[in-house]
Amino acid sequence: MKLSLARLCFVAFLTLELALSLTIFFLYQSEKDLASQPYPAGGEQTKRVLAGEIVGLTGRMRAVAELIAKHPQTIASLASGSEQERLAQLSNIEALYPDVAIRLLPADTGAAAGLYAAPLSAVHAQLPPNGNGGVAAKDAHGTSEGVLTIVQPVTDPRTKTLLGFVVVDKGLSELRTLFGRLVGRGNYVELQQFNVNGPYDVLLHRGDASLKTNSLKELFDLPGTTWRLVVWPRPSWVQQAGDPYQIHVGAWLFATVWLIVAMGGLHFALRKTLLSDVDSVLAFFSDIRHFRLRKSYPIRLKDLQESFELMYGLGKLMVGKQKQVADYASIDHLSQVNNRRSFEAKQRELYKTLADGWVHSLLILDIDNFKQVNDTYGHDAGDTLIVQFGKVLKENLRASDFVARLGGDEFCVIFPNTPLKKAGELAARLRQSMPAEVPLAPGVLHKLSWSGGLSEYKREDASENMALSRADGALLEAKRAGRNQTRVAA
Ligand code: GH3
Ligand code: MG
Repeated sequence: MKLSLARLCFVAFLTLELALSLTIFFLYQSEKDLASQPYPAGGEQTKRVLAGEIVGLTGRMRAVAELIAKHPQTIASLASGSEQERLAQLSNIEALYPDVAIRLLPADTGAAAGLYAAPLSAVHAQLPPNGNGGVAAKDAHGTSEGVLTIVQPVTDPRTKTLLGFVVVDKGLSELRTLFGRLVGRGNYVELQQFNVNGPYDVLLHRGDASLKTNSLKELFDLPGTTWRLVVWPRPSWVQQAGDPYQIHVGAWLFATVWLIVAMGGLHFALRKTLLSDVDSVLAFFSDIRHFRLRKSYPIRLKDLQESFELMYGLGKLMVGKQKQVADYASIDHLSQVNNRRSFEAKQRELYKTLADGWVHSLLILDIDNFKQVNDTYGHDAGDTLIVQFGKVLKENLRASDFVARLGGDEFCVIFPNTPLKKAGELAARLRQSMPAEVPLAPGVLHKLSWSGGLSEYKREDASENMALSRADGALLEAKRAGRNQTRVAA
């Protein structure tokens, strides 16, 4: 199977869609059961920990109350009925237990305060007067936010008669802290106290009270106290939102549409980037095949950039080398004009066009008395003259003219698409424009003189070399006629 970008994106989409559908299906399975069940209270742990803490707290208070009630001085002070002794004993006790407030009440005062009515063994909270009608007592911290109260009767150990009461009060703040720390945030929880006269008093509450409208509350009695915990759990989002099937199908549809849009966007962006990069790479390879390179090839993908730059560098090297090799094969190494091989190739190429009516001419040039230069100034000076001659030829001819060195001091110019008459004019202009002297060595100027033979390629010629033979003949005539002139072949 051939890989395409669209197919790749489609497969990615199918994979993600499958994962999405499975996830939503499993979520639906787990939450549809949840929706049909009553809301989970999650209060079991709270109840256990809170009850434990309260039992610990009240246990400590009870122990204090019992200890004081048994103390001989307490018994003595209450038995004596002396206000002074009772207050003295009270101040002794308060110094020992600074974190609770303690009262020593004689039997008649306690009865008057209604202590017989209170459940003696239970912890009971007294609320501030503006609360639910309870009597506020000063707590250990001096606030009047409500107190926990323990009442312990004091009896004469011998007569077993009731002498009075030890009342231990502790501020609600410790319980409040405990409550705040233990009750979870998600639910709404109240610590309620039984009230003989009417509805339960709310001692403490925490959480979002609006959850109270939810009738699915849970009740936990706290043994040893007159309290209970009431928890209104927060419904899960599925329970709040309604039909789980509709919710999940809706979520699935939304996610699917989102996935389609995302994949489409990804495909579009990748296509734009990748295809433009692929175009650049293809253009690069095509150019390399033709041994030419552009200045740059835009590559947008960062990951491809480095590798491509490496490839581009290698390509440049290769094209440079190829050009060098091609030059070696076609350029005369001394005069830097075309060599005999490329001259012959050019002739063949032009000869083929004669049948179509094209007209081309050719000028053969030979330096006059070249041997003398060699003999007089040496072979290097002769070489220099060859180089200079090639240079001035190139400088004084049109770019379309083809200059080659045939060998020794013999050069040739092909005038493509030029009839003989026009070639004659060009040859004359060339002779005129060429410098009279060329430098061979420092201080040595050589008078430039050459002879030329002109001819035209003819359609009826048996081979491409016949025009050159005719030009050669004309050159010989020019030499014979005294050199420094051009002759035209008949
Ligand atoms: P003419 O006027 O009749 O052309 O006389 P010439 O002295 O120029 O004689 P000719 O054209 O026959 O001379 C060719 C000489 O060029 C022969 C050879 O020694 C010399 N020659 C050939 N190739 C080279 C070369 O590459 N470098 C040098 N310096 N001399 C060369
Ligand atoms: Mg010569």
